Amino acid sequence: MPALPRFTGDLTRQEPLPQEAIDAVNAVLESGRLHRYEPVPGEESEASALEREYADWQGRPYCLALASGGQALQIALRAAGVRPGDPVLANAFTLAPVPGAIAAVGAEARLVEINEDLVIDLDDLARKADQAKVLMLSHMRGHQCDMDALMQLADEAGLTVIEDCAHTMGATWRGIRSGNFGRAGCFSTQSYKHLNSGEGGLLTSADPEFMARAILLSGAYMLYERHGARPPLAVFNDVRLSTPNMSARMDNVRAAMLRPQLPRLESNIRRWNRIHDRIATGIAQSARIHLPRRAPQEGYVGSSLRFAVPGMTAAQGEALVSDAAERGVALKWFGASEPVGYTSNYDSWAYLPPQLLPQTRNVLDGLIDLRLPLTLDDDDCDLIAAHIRAAVERLPFAGALS
Ligand SMILES: *Cc1c(COP(=O)(O)O)cnc(C)c1O
Repeated sequence: MPALPRFTGDLTRQEPLPQEAIDAVNAVLESGRLHRYEPVPGEESEASALEREYADWQGRPYCLALASGGQALQIALRAAGVRPGDPVLANAFTLAPVPGAIAAVGAEARLVEINEDLVIDLDDLARKADQAKVLMLSHMRGHQCDMDALMQLADEAGLTVIEDCAHTMGATWRGIRSGNFGRAGCFSTQSYKHLNSGEGGLLTSADPEFMARAILLSGAYMLYERHGARPPLAVFNDVRLSTPNMSARMDNVRAAMLRPQLPRLESNIRRWNRIHDRIATGIAQSARIHLPRRAPQEGYVGSSLRFAVPGMTAAQGEALVSDAAERGVALKWFGASEPVGYTSNYDSWAYLPPQLLPQTRNVLDGLIDLRLPLTLDDDDCDLIAAHIRAAVERLPFAGALS
């Protein structure tokens, strides 16, 4: 069999922004009005318009534009009433900004196990539900748990759910958008998410008091009237003087580049899923590769892909990543002992009290992750899948597979 040609594409390259976004940014720069509260008599700021449009797209009455996804998480925790020293539950498979946001408000993360489908283990959540009043649920890498069962459990236990939707912007459960189940949905517009403004965040909710506090926390000065998707002004009266300003606003430049991307999101989701499904089908031909299952209720956004190699040792995990790298395919492995770039696991967050999560540990040790930029075409997908199959098949297994 002829050797596969090396994959020479770039798995980390984003598409350029649409011309409309570039033009909108230029218009903001030319106007000089970069701050969201700079008055243009009779006009709505770009940040305010983005909030209105995103709220509409998401199907929530309220939306707040912020400096980052991490700030959205932090402000959501504060607006939900989390105080220093409070325990906050979170699924253990997530990205560093989640435990970071919990630490930023002085709270204490209590991690909950995940299962082999990469979602929160509802049995472990039920065991730990009485330890906290808030659950920060990270739909990590776009995998959603049974949201109906989770919300029922949370309601019964009196848990407020804050959804980290950094990887589920545009995803659905039973046709309902991810982020619309809990008290709040937190989104990121950092470059590797589904909308790209370099850095940025969006926070959505249907709870007027929660959103009034969040807007004030974001640093609204006393200009909250200028927000595009805010609760009625009367709601602010009770909290306007008792809520600190934490300066986490989004500026008009980023809002201007995001607005033209929003109408393209639905078609980008179809493009991502085509790439995702083609590679997933390709690698599933190897008996050594296990793909996490997805529930039929789940409408996912395939902006990245994960697979497990059951029985893989640490040495084999490292060998697989370096073999794939030589083939031009950048894989990430969640079992690494040291954090690598964006990829880390709960063991690396040494500022947390030690957590015992044997089931999660076991899942992460065998888990490989691949980012899927929209720049991939069908031939790229087939070549990537062939390389992954070949790299996995080459691993010397000592009868570890069942
Ligand atoms: C990107 C991301 C965030 C937010 O990150 P920012 O870089 O602060 O926008 C939160 N959670 C997860 C799982 C993420 O991947």
